[in-house]
Amino acid sequence: MTHDITRVEAFALSVPVGFEWAGSKHVRRNAMTYVEIETASGLVGHGLTALSPAPVVATAINRVARNALLGLDATGHEHVWNVALWALTAPGQTGIGCNALSAIDIALWDIKGKIAEKPIWALLGGARRRLPAYATCGFSFFDRDQLAEAGQRMCAQGYDALKMQVGRPGLDAREDAVDVHAVIDEDVRRIRCLRDAVGDGVEIAMDAGARLDGDHAADLAARAADLGVTFFEEPVVANDVPAMAALRRRVPAMKVACGQSEGQVWRFRDMIAANAIDIVQPNVIVAGGFTGAARAAALAVDANLPVFHGGGASYHNAHLQAGLAAGTGLEHQMSSSPAAEKVFDGLPVFADGHLEMTDAPGLGFTLRDGVLREFAVD
Ligand SMILES: [Mg+2]
Repeated sequence: MTHDITRVEAFALSVPVGFEWAGSKHVRRNAMTYVEIETASGLVGHGLTALSPAPVVATAINRVARNALLGLDATGHEHVWNVALWALTAPGQTGIGCNALSAIDIALWDIKGKIAEKPIWALLGGARRRLPAYATCGFSFFDRDQLAEAGQRMCAQGYDALKMQVGRPGLDAREDAVDVHAVIDEDVRRIRCLRDAVGDGVEIAMDAGARLDGDHAADLAARAADLGVTFFEEPVVANDVPAMAALRRRVPAMKVACGQSEGQVWRFRDMIAANAIDIVQPNVIVAGGFTGAARAAALAVDANLPVFHGGGASYHNAHLQAGLAAGTGLEHQMSSSPAAEKVFDGLPVFADGHLEMTDAPGLGFTLRDGVLREFAVD
């Protein structure tokens, strides 16, 4: 029986997660694109991408990648990957095509794991079974009391490192003439509030989601460094490489983390070569799947920089962080992780601030019944 590809099918989903537990009425919708690749042997692998418009990515897979991949041997992984790369991203653009490529690559690794009867983290290298995790719980839609409650709640669950959103609204809302300086001032008050709530023994990191200009990012970085914030993720708009390098020079006390939204390995090369980042964050659902993320991780190893996780999809990224020696730890994101729990059965469980990998083949988890209907978007 061959493993020739007989079906490539993508589904755009929107998965709501509520935050009633923090006294907030907010419902956050998590957009994601789920893909299945089936082979002539009857094996079905699945993959995922997010942080992009799901219907557009699903269309790219269903209308472009499918025609290129049908009939190819799924075990010829590099061949299939390169065919998909050139079909979706030629001549090397980042963006939507890389998201589609990532979901496809993850499905190929899932198939490979199922054939080998080994989990992906073991196939990648099996560096560690147990991963430390930090909790991203400081959402910008929380008021200060809710932020404090969210932090205390995660510490009570065994987390000793937290991440919070800052710089919002920033340049994403400039048509409303946002006073970004006032936003930064409020961020500093919120950091103090979270620090007071959880104490000095807990690490706090912050994430601007690529929404700030260099000057405001540097201002916030300097003030947050004084409050013991350990790293600043995606500080500036478009992950602008010279601006991040300038920020590092202006505020040496603050580490810069970046990479979760980057789709091509040369973006990581440019960030590392320009001394623009301290922490490299390849995200398997964006950076070309496990294949692309492992290439970015290799660049980090060459530069003696840590490979860390940000950007959600923790159950997928866990395989990369556990598989590679350069891996360090995992984000447990309080919107993306509950969304994944609504979509998949058989997920490993976060406990005591850690995630323990399983020996289930491939990704090790499966789609829950009815999900494609329940959360479908056009
Ligand atoms: Mg982030």
